[in-house]
Amino acid sequence: MKVAPEKLKVIAPATGEQIGEIDETPISQVDNFYQNSRFAFNQWSQLDVSERLDYLQKLKLVIVEQMDEVAKVVAKDTGKVLTEALIADVMPSIDGIDHICKHGEKVLKRRKVKTSILLMGKKSYIEYMPRGVVLVISPWNYPFQLAMVPIVSALASGNTVILKPSEVTPQVGKCIEDLFSKAGFPEGVVQVAHGGKEVGAAFTNGKPDYIFFTGSVRTGKIIQEVAAKQLIPTTLELGGKDPMIVFADAHLERAAKGAAWAAFTNSGQVCMSAERLYVEKNVYHSFLSLLKKEISALKQGTDIDSDVGSMTFPAQIQIVKEQLTDALSKGAVLEAGLPPEKWEDGMFLPLTVVTNVNHDMKMIQEESFGPIIPVIPFESEDEVVALANDSVYGLNASVWTKDIDKARRIASKLVTGAVVINDAIISIANHGLPFGGAKQSGIGRYHGEAGLRIFCHEKAIVEDSGRKKSEIHWYPYKGKYPLFLTLLKSYFQKQRNWLTFINSFLSILKKS
Ligand code: ADP
Repeated sequence: MKVAPEKLKVIAPATGEQIGEIDETPISQVDNFYQNSRFAFNQWSQLDVSERLDYLQKLKLVIVEQMDEVAKVVAKDTGKVLTEALIADVMPSIDGIDHICKHGEKVLKRRKVKTSILLMGKKSYIEYMPRGVVLVISPWNYPFQLAMVPIVSALASGNTVILKPSEVTPQVGKCIEDLFSKAGFPEGVVQVAHGGKEVGAAFTNGKPDYIFFTGSVRTGKIIQEVAAKQLIPTTLELGGKDPMIVFADAHLERAAKGAAWAAFTNSGQVCMSAERLYVEKNVYHSFLSLLKKEISALKQGTDIDSDVGSMTFPAQIQIVKEQLTDALSKGAVLEAGLPPEKWEDGMFLPLTVVTNVNHDMKMIQEESFGPIIPVIPFESEDEVVALANDSVYGLNASVWTKDIDKARRIASKLVTGAVVINDAIISIANHGLPFGGAKQSGIGRYHGEAGLRIFCHEKAIVEDSGRKKSEIHWYPYKGKYPLFLTLLKSYFQKQRNWLTFINSFLSILKKS
């Protein structure tokens, strides 16, 4: 008897209405997915990079053609405002494809590297060989970009892909599946497995050749454990608790506008949102007034002109609530927003600013992933660097000052995967830069050259013409040791002695 598939409900978080349902992928299908993927890999991996990039170009044009529709699916499925769906989810994906199409061939090309003189007469190369089947597990906060960019990077590098999109935003997963099908990718090159964590776990256990995961630290650690048992390489893009540092000599109005955006874009559900705001003491009060003024002008809602949308994932509201309750019980002061007991039901949270906070509070130590920002005064560069680095996370950070030397000095001292000076978050938007975190923010990098090469085995090739009968490092060793000693000393000593080097080399050659 054929069993009807389980359904994933598609709920629009902003309104709570059910807007559809999607068939969940039965776990019994996992092996089939991998078989299809491995079968497709045999041909896909044999295409020239330029042929694979032609497919990506087609995909890009399909997305461009349907940009408005895709942005609307993303907005509806996440509750984010339409402008953010377009500029922060759809646009970076298209730009990522564009970047790969421009640079992919060069990045993946076989490269010649210098060969040490000790390997005289040989040539050395690096080649990039696709790994096989890449499992991409993606989250709900930027469900389009954080699935699409790893997928297209893995594809360009010659891999086939299985995507397990977040069950919280399943409609976006379906939309991605449809876009690849419209772009005419060969059967099995990209497959989408719909479902929740059980489906994710089943695919993780299915022995992919690489796992690219974006999500929580908790799940990242589970995936890393499973992967370790099979020695499967991974990239883990996890959470953040990004500091924003505002010095007194910053353009304060700009910094206040920037802080409102960096803290509340996507309702703060951004791994790189500003989650700790450090402001130099002598401008602390004036900056706080500017920030509050900015926030009071923001419009929350679902219409096309809204600034801040709803939360996406109901469980996240509880986390934000607990952090705020903890902080208020320890003496924190609400500068904007409402105490949790006065929050209305639903997915729109008050835009919240909190002061009188310290590093013992959950709100400072744990990721909030909501529209809430604590503001803390500081007095010196050293103090603020120590505060900023006092976190288990290290994803991104921002430094705001007109003194660029100071900004660069601070940037170099921050233990993070990226730093933005006089803006925030946007380092992810430059596909030429590596993206990834330090500490518990993750393992590995993507975007840029790394983004294509992580999906390849980096193969070292040394080439000899094969015309000589023997090599100096081969048998017999008889009589070679003292000659090698002289050769190596003449080569590695402070002043290289070429005459001795050549003489001892020729003597060893005679004995080979
Ligand atoms: P969040 O809690 O913010 O949704 P998660 O890290 O739990 O973040 O989810 C990110 C992605 O990981 C989702 O696609 C989810 O279904 C998937 N996932 C969750 N748990 C597991 C697991 N144990 N194994 C594989 N994938 C998982």
